[in-house]
Amino acid sequence: MFYRSMSKMIFIISLFFFAIPNAFAVGAFPASTHTVTIQPIIVSDDDGSNMATFFGLPDQKTDIEGFIDNIWGQAGIDVNFLSANVWSNTFANSGSGGTRPGSDLRAIVNSATTAGVIHTNPDFINMFFVNTPAGFSPLSLNSAAGLAFVGNNGITQYVGSNLLDFGSGRDVIAGVVAHEIGHNLGLSHTASRINNLMSPSGSGNALTIGQIDTVLNSRFVVSAVPLPAAIWFMGSGLIGLISFSRKRGQLQNTVI
Ligand SMILES: [Zn+2]
Repeated sequence: MFYRSMSKMIFIISLFFFAIPNAFAVGAFPASTHTVTIQPIIVSDDDGSNMATFFGLPDQKTDIEGFIDNIWGQAGIDVNFLSANVWSNTFANSGSGGTRPGSDLRAIVNSATTAGVIHTNPDFINMFFVNTPAGFSPLSLNSAAGLAFVGNNGITQYVGSNLLDFGSGRDVIAGVVAHEIGHNLGLSHTASRINNLMSPSGSGNALTIGQIDTVLNSRFVVSAVPLPAAIWFMGSGLIGLISFSRKRGQLQNTVI
């Protein structure tokens, strides 16, 4: 079917060999002009055991989300993670044993849709945190990896728990998660071992002007339209309201 293409992310990063440089200082970019919203879904087995690792403790989560915002800040995009849903589904968590086929990603999304654990807004990206992502064999606790559709909604993401314990490990997690988000936003792989977020070897976090143009046309990217200051004083019922204008929708279905 036309939208079933996906990119296999051979994107296992061993922290013992290299770490993604954290080249982006907090606050290095102007205020975000756009937003991408992620619905995390933390998966465990049918009986609730073997829950997959998400972003760890609150301070670890803050670090990881900050690193992701630094990366996507290059495009003026703030990545917003909603409160996580939890889902007990052994197949989604680990597959049927051995190396998972990439097609498990579609199977997971379809099953989750039936189970009602994906977000009701189709323009929010569903990111499934699992013990073995589609397309992979079971992975080391020192690694992070994911598989994502290119230009369509759905990511399976693995976070090795050992990476949570120190800053450069959180950088690695953020780099992989930001990379997978890039696929859903329409980006394919660049060459390996270059300083680019979409390098399959995880060798950098930079984005090109062309890549930024592509993602800003994604249906998952919305413009943040500031409200006039006065409106904030019109009543408490308005507090927290944010107006979004939709970017033009476009599905990109690149096979790589
Ligand atoms: Zn990739």
